[in-house]
Amino acid sequence: MSFKFNNHYADLGSAFYTALDPTPLPNPEKVIFNDDEIKNSGLDVFNKNELISFFSGNAYPEGAHPLAMKYTGHQFGYYNPDLGDGRGLLMGQFDYNGSLYDLHLKGAGRTPYSRMGDGRAVLRSSIREFLASEALHHLGIPTTRALGITTSDEPVRRESIERATMLMRLSDSHIRFGSFEYLYYTDQHDELEKLCEYTIKHHFRECINDNKPIDSFALSAANKTAQLIAKWQAFGFAHGVLNTDNMSITGHTFDYGPYGFMEQYDPYYICNHSDDHGRYAFNKQPAIGYWNLQALIQALSPLINKETQLEALETYQETFLKSYHNLMSAKIGLPNLNVDDKNLYQDLLDYIEGYKIDYTCFFRDLSHYKMGDGAGSIDNLKPNAREFEPWFKQYDGHLSNSGVLESARHQQMQQINPKYILRNYLAQIAIQNAEQGDYEELHTLYEILKKPYAEQEEHQSYAKESPDWGKNLQISCSS
Ligand code: AMP
Ligand code: MG
Repeated sequence: MSFKFNNHYADLGSAFYTALDPTPLPNPEKVIFNDDEIKNSGLDVFNKNELISFFSGNAYPEGAHPLAMKYTGHQFGYYNPDLGDGRGLLMGQFDYNGSLYDLHLKGAGRTPYSRMGDGRAVLRSSIREFLASEALHHLGIPTTRALGITTSDEPVRRESIERATMLMRLSDSHIRFGSFEYLYYTDQHDELEKLCEYTIKHHFRECINDNKPIDSFALSAANKTAQLIAKWQAFGFAHGVLNTDNMSITGHTFDYGPYGFMEQYDPYYICNHSDDHGRYAFNKQPAIGYWNLQALIQALSPLINKETQLEALETYQETFLKSYHNLMSAKIGLPNLNVDDKNLYQDLLDYIEGYKIDYTCFFRDLSHYKMGDGAGSIDNLKPNAREFEPWFKQYDGHLSNSGVLESARHQQMQQINPKYILRNYLAQIAIQNAEQGDYEELHTLYEILKKPYAEQEEHQSYAKESPDWGKNLQISCSS
């Protein structure tokens, strides 16, 4: 087994990581592979058995350089100096067809940064990460990808005994806000500069020839973060644990835990039931992105000037507002809506909040709306149609002024208002079956989530609101 790795992160030196091998899973079994992405990244040179060995830490291709990355970060507002890859390893880096790839094996065993943890992941959390990262990718939201899951009979203690499992993750980078915070707070400022130069060289190439590349990089990172969070808000996704060690520097959704797609529209939605004060509630995400960016800018402060520090924070706010406005305007089929008319979608959100309407179902239904038909033509609104009529009158006015053909508007809206999202209860059924050794439902759900905007007539039931038992599932943080 050999593969052309370049492992440039390893070249940064020992301040940045600890090199070590994974602790293999005994008698590994394939749970699910992402064949499309295995092919796209060139990893299809390996056969199924080789991939099972690789994805379970039993063997790795010649040229790989497994290492645990060191980072720190702010968790729930408090600085924690003891973080790092505690149960995952950067297995190797390569480029293929012009894209950069980091292979990260989650659940790969204990590392010097494991603290009290066992270094393992379980089937439940690996499936949740696999499904969510693929669902977000196919919705068009930047995210790490999932390549495959293997599991074993090795027992792991959580609230009950579960099966030790590994997830092979793929991303352009595994550098976090916390990677910079670590070097800043340990006064390794030369190393901090080295990490910035590395990040620019590999991930922010557009900044390399600027007058002050590190300043440009800070602005660009602010921009990417704002765009990402605007997408979460528009699609109703809550990350759940937005600590700075879970913020990717390249603006990808990163480190999935007790995340959730909002179902009934509720801005105060808290998906992580350990988040007692709602620090990471759905409607707090934009402000938390800002808070986290401040932590990043603080870490970069020895290398960028004061004006840039302020500009980065302003950039974040401006980009967020602009991106969110553009997304919400497109969701109501008025992509050129003037910012002064943003009340149109804000009022709509107030209405659907008041009537506890399913966010995804509502916008999908709206994507079929015929001008003049009024609220009664939207399934979800029928019982309260009268309350919504004033809004629809206003909406009709905007639609008629837009001059866009109805069929074109419907088509545009159906490309931004998904029919299928990963509802917690759907993941839960797939997980329960998988825990009994039956992976069929997991595969079915995965295939559906690959085409979230398609009608998929044969899978209508997956587009429906959750049944009552599935509406308020408590997702455990102990993954
Ligand atoms: P997370 O909440 O998954 O972002 O993890 C926060 C920190 O805890 C990171 O440093 C992880 O590597 C570490 N960690 C989480 N779970 C485990 C585990 N089972 N064993 C060792 N370290 C862990
Ligand atoms: Mg993490």
